[in-house]
Amino acid sequence: MQKRCTRCGNEMEIVLRNVVYRKRVKIMNVPVQVCVDEDCDHSQVVDVIKDDLKSLMEELGQHPQRQAIEFEEMSELSNLLVLIANEKVNSTVRELLGEKVNELLDLFLLAQSLGDEKWMLELRERLTKIMV
Ligand SMILES: [Zn+2]
Repeated sequence: MQKRCTRCGNEMEIVLRNVVYRKRVKIMNVPVQVCVDEDCDHSQVVDVIKDDLKSLMEELGQHPQRQAIEFEEMSELSNLLVLIANEKVNSTVRELLGEKVNELLDLFLLAQSLGDEKWMLELRERLTKIMV
């Protein structure tokens, strides 16, 4: 149950992107799902980290100071995805982690579509503990 692009139906892959908030704050390494179709190029923030991102933006407020924030320092899931993207980590470990993360993200989407908040919370916790 890989996430499909809502525009063209192609597969989406997770990449790390920099997001600019209110033109002043650069938030680095935000996990984003991007459509594999280059012409479509549709992207959206990974569902499971939306809450983390939202609370960061609330903290920054409407008139933030010019700054750069490393998102992985406040989001364990982002931290995990940075680790997977980091080529210094052994490729077998990366693959295993990547598979596990995808599996949990799929379950998260399912829990979300069912509106099962308890399950969503549980999956978020499992995701953040994956690397320990
Ligand atoms: Zn697409």
